[in-house]
Order: sequence, then C-alpha cells, then structure tokens
Amino acid sequence: KAKEAGRGTHAFFEDSMTLQLKQEMDIARELSQAIKQDELLIHYQPQFDLQEGRLVGMEALVRWRHPSRGLLYPGDFIAVAEKRGLIRGLSDWVLTDACRQSRAWAEQGLDFGRIAVNLCAHQVGDLAFGDRILEILRDTGALPGHLELEFTETVLIEATAQTQSDIVRLSELGVHFAIDDFGTGFSSLQYLRKFRTDKIKIDREFVKDVILDAGDAEIVKATIALGTALGLITVAEGVETEEQADFLRRHGCRQAQGYLYARPIPASDVEQRWLRLTSPAAAIA
Ligand code: C2E
Ligand code: MG
Ligand code: MG
Ligand code: MG
Repeated sequence: KAKEAGRGTHAFFEDSMTLQLKQEMDIARELSQAIKQDELLIHYQPQFDLQEGRLVGMEALVRWRHPSRGLLYPGDFIAVAEKRGLIRGLSDWVLTDACRQSRAWAEQGLDFGRIAVNLCAHQVGDLAFGDRILEILRDTGALPGHLELEFTETVLIEATAQTQSDIVRLSELGVHFAIDDFGTGFSSLQYLRKFRTDKIKIDREFVKDVILDAGDAEIVKATIALGTALGLITVAEGVETEEQADFLRRHGCRQAQGYLYARPIPASDVEQRWLRLTSPAAAIA
C-alpha cells in the first residue's frame, strides 16, 4: 500500500513537473514573439524628492500585453526569459524604448530627471554590456545623463573586471548607477566604492514595516546614514503611507517611490500629471 502511495506521489510530481516545464516553454515561445510583435510595454513609476516634493525621475518597469492572458507583470516572465536565453532581446527592447522616450521628452524640453532601467546578471555579465548601452544611446539620441541603470548587490558581487571597467566608462559619460533592493543581498560595502554607484534603493521589505518593526526601522536608519556618509542618494521603495514618508524624511532619506505617490503608469500619464505642470512647485506636497 505504501508502495502504491509512493508511486502515486511520484506520478503526481512528474505530472506537475511536466506541466510546469510545458508552461515555461509556452511562455518562452510566446515571449520571443512578443518582443518582435510589440506586445511589450513600459510603465513608469515616478520618484520624488522627499523634501521638495518635486519629481526627480522614474523607474521603467516592463509589462507584457499578452493576447489571451491580459497584462502580465515581470514576476510572470522575467525568470523564464533569463532561463531560456531571451533576456538579452527583452532588455534591448526595454532599454531602447526607455531611451526613445527619454529623447522625446528631452526634445520637448520636459524635465523628467532620469529614467531608471533594471538590468539582470546575464546582461551585466555580457562582454559587450558597455558597448551595447552606448550603441542604444547613440541610436536613440538619448543623453547618458538621463539614463540610470539599476542592478542588485548580487550582480555586482559576481561582476568581472570587464564589467567593472564598463561601469566606470559609462559613468564617466554621465550614466547613473543605482543599487536595487539594497540590504536584501550579500551586502558588501566594498563595492559601493569600487563601482561608481550614486544611488542606493532601500528595499520595500524594510520600508513596509518601518513604523511597526523596530528592527526594520534601525536597518532603514543605518542605510540612510551609510548612504549619506558615502555621498550617495538614498531612495526608499514601496512607500505606501504618510507615516512611512514622514519617518524617511525625518531620518534624511532623499527620495521616495511607491503607491503613496504613484503606481507604475504609462508614459503619457506621467507626462500629463507631472511633466506638464505650469509651476515646478511640489507635486506631492
Ligand atoms: P524592482 O526593481 O524592485 O521594482 C519595484 C517593484 O515594486 C515593481 O514591481 C513595482 O510595481 C513595485 N512597487 C512599487 N511601489 C510599490 C508599493 O508602494 N507597494 C508595493 N506593494 N509594490 C510597489 P514590478 O513592476 O512587478 O517589478 C518587479 C521586478 O521585476 C522589479 O523589481 C525588477 O527587479 C524586475 N523588472 C521590472 N522590469 C524589468 C526589466 O525591464 N528588466 C529586468 N531585467 N527586470 C525587470
Ligand atoms: Mg528596480
Ligand atoms: Mg527595487
Ligand atoms: Mg524591490
């Protein structure tokens, strides 16, 4: 009897594995089409200066308008894209589209600050990483100073000497670098100096309970202090309440991004709501 049950369990796992693999292959096949057929789009999430309230930039977050499944979020397809060799095509598309938007806004004289784009380990580890970024900037006519590249601590720890020199080269041209999800990876303070980071993004995990959890509050305060001491801009992610914003402001955090201010939205909405203000005065105050 035990043997039968065992077999049953085994068969069950086999089935669910096959199903998972099949779904993954479906996503991969559809995604490679999606990149060519313009099914991808970017939503931009504005970032604000916590003292002055003005918009300082925005993060580009990819979405996929799937023909039958509706709007899909990165959690549904980025991991598959990385695993199945599609991340390069996807990221090229995102970078190019974000840089086109940057150029278009710059041409209209709109002050959008920077557009931040997320990069994964595969892209940064690519030997042609620096060249590809430069090529996209050239092709789109976007200014390096309007581009910010975000990656996680883990990416930096695995970075080769080549990656490091690419980062230095790009930063000398004005491209900005931000460490995403700071504090969740293997935090090594060495890379903050080694790489020319100019921003650290405090992860939503710590911001979420900053009012309720004394431990999280200490981590956030220490991170802000560290960033400030090193001359870096600190940005808090996932700010959802006024209490959180007050806490962050009081402790010297420079910028914030989160549902309290804006969800990720299409570029045209950002433009209407924040870039076409008649007065530059506080958008969030
Ligand atoms: P991330 O870079 O940490 O991006 C922030 C995520 O937090 C976004 O989710 C955003 O919608 C969400 N968020 C922002 N404010 C709030 C808030 O106040 N409350 C809550 N609950 N959530 C908030 P999203 O868009 O689903 O992106 C998830 C992750 O996918 C990103 O995390 C990023 O690592 C990755 N990703 C997004 N776009 C790209 C891309 O173009 N390329 C690559 N390689 N990764 C991407
Ligand atoms: Mg990010
Ligand atoms: Mg983040
Ligand atoms: Mg995060």
